[in-house]
Amino acid sequence: MHAGSTNECIFCAIADGVTPADVVFDGGDTLFFRDINPQAKAHIVGITKKHIASLDAVVGDDHGVIGKLLHEAAHVASDLGIAESGYRVITNVGHDAGQEVQHLHFHILGGEPLGRLVHRNE
Ligand code: 5GP
Ligand code: ZN
Repeated sequence: MHAGSTNECIFCAIADGVTPADVVFDGGDTLFFRDINPQAKAHIVGITKKHIASLDAVVGDDHGVIGKLLHEAAHVASDLGIAESGYRVITNVGHDAGQEVQHLHFHILGGEPLGRLVHRNE
């Protein structure tokens, strides 16, 4: 089990190779894999292998790996062939955003025109 990994966290289990995932890129301290429930034709999840609960839990030591994660997200999008037509990178933080997995991750969505970014339930 890697440093900071927690038993109950599904993304830690994927980072450890305990739970299988369709990995598209392994950056060493980062991992990109296909979302199990895709919300667009292309839907990749990019994580830090270190368990960080969300963007709200980031500390100074994490700045380097998060910058790297975002840069790699652009490369992954390019490798998947969705960069030219355009894509979206988002992260959900906490309850109101509907964050389901409490391990920092960026969604890469594309491969088709996407809906509006901001939704308000009313
Ligand atoms: P959140 O709602 O936390 O921003 O996004 C969590 C994402 O993780 C969801 O899009 C969900 O489909 C995906 N997900 C949850 N469990 C698994 C899993 O075991 N494997 C993969 N590949 N994706 C998962
Ligand atoms: Zn985790």
